Amino acid sequence: MTIRYSRRSFFSYSRTALASIGLSSLMTPMQSIGAVLSHKDDDVNYYAKLGVEEIINAAGTYTSLTAAIMPEKVQLAVARAAKSPVRLEDLQLAAGSYLAKRLHCEAALVSAGAASALTLGTAACVTLANDKKGERVPPRIPQGMDSLKNEAIMQKGHRYGYDHALSNCGVRIVEVETLDEYRAAFTPKTVMTHFFNAATSGTIGREDWIRISHAHNIPCMNDAAADMPPISNLWKYTQMGFDLVCFSGGKGIRGPQNAGLLLGKKDLIAAAAENNNPIDNVVGRGQKVAKEQIVGMVAAVDWLLSQTDEGMEREFRGRAKKIADYLSDVPTLTAQIYVPEVANHVPTLLLHYDQEKVKIAPLEVADMCRHGSPSIELHPATGSPEPGLPSDANTIVVGVWMLQPGQDMIVAKRLRQILMEAASTQAS
Ligand SMILES: *Cc1c(COP(=O)(O)O)cnc(C)c1O
Repeated sequence: MTIRYSRRSFFSYSRTALASIGLSSLMTPMQSIGAVLSHKDDDVNYYAKLGVEEIINAAGTYTSLTAAIMPEKVQLAVARAAKSPVRLEDLQLAAGSYLAKRLHCEAALVSAGAASALTLGTAACVTLANDKKGERVPPRIPQGMDSLKNEAIMQKGHRYGYDHALSNCGVRIVEVETLDEYRAAFTPKTVMTHFFNAATSGTIGREDWIRISHAHNIPCMNDAAADMPPISNLWKYTQMGFDLVCFSGGKGIRGPQNAGLLLGKKDLIAAAAENNNPIDNVVGRGQKVAKEQIVGMVAAVDWLLSQTDEGMEREFRGRAKKIADYLSDVPTLTAQIYVPEVANHVPTLLLHYDQEKVKIAPLEVADMCRHGSPSIELHPATGSPEPGLPSDANTIVVGVWMLQPGQDMIVAKRLRQILMEAASTQAS
């Protein structure tokens, strides 16, 4: 018989159990989980001061979990940049041309995240499409768009949670499903086509998408926000022919969470900059990236290019294996290390078990991890199917790539303790 726990009884159960294995004494609330930099006496831990709980991120680069932790070198570059003012536009331009060289594209712009790159990229396409002899339109976006060219073509299967980043510019999204529909969708009002790189539906491939867009002399943008590694993806899609490519800076690249990359053609990146701060009356005015984060973005790219795909993969696989090995005697448990195809293309640990023998549901495990001390966030695909991952109601998913040194064993011990307790629960 499966024993059902209420949330409340779980909570006390988890505390008692934690105390029994001594984990709760590992951390005090004032202690910083992720402290990387050495602290001087006058350093204030504002998380503690504000009473905000620090967490162990066994999920991934999720926005709501503040995505990645910047490598120490990047943190130092950010701190150094904070000490001196510069001219913002000088820094934007210099960072852009440096990044373009390093990432093998014509031009680049540091945006306030991938979503901002999507908006600025769209604004660039609207601007160029409506450009009449130097009569630029940026100040009107997204107002008064009806009389302007304002259509963006997307595959129906590529409509997603970031459409609004395009709509912010007042464009209308035109949906297509087949190649024939795609060819027929171009009108005198078309300003761009847009591709969702990690889409799991949609029948038109990247090459066809680009070819037909270019045959109509229309630029195409690609949202590859979460699609690094491999590192070479940072130039693969611009070199494939996409005119604009968006990446998140705070995900796998491990830059500041509020930074991103818009990579692509010179004229489009220049038009994006016309829609960006420090200009006041434009759509990008509210998407400012401060000097610290612009520098942090550049430093993160430098850091990333000093890494190798093999090295990162070995590290993440090693963490997953370490956790799996530690859980190997949990009854009926099998471990699988799975690498998603496109987005978050990193070794991810999936744990399957028989809930008749280990009497706890994965979602309850996630809840206990969250409410323990230290608080651990498991991958949101735990206990549910998710596109790109073979997870289901019987699966615990551990995202290992955002764990800080030593945290793999904290997660392993916590999981083992929860699962072993549940396995020893006698049917009554
Ligand atoms: C995360 C993500 C974004 C947004 O990235 P930010 O850097 O948080 O703005 C956009 N598109 C896709 C597909 C994403 O995964």
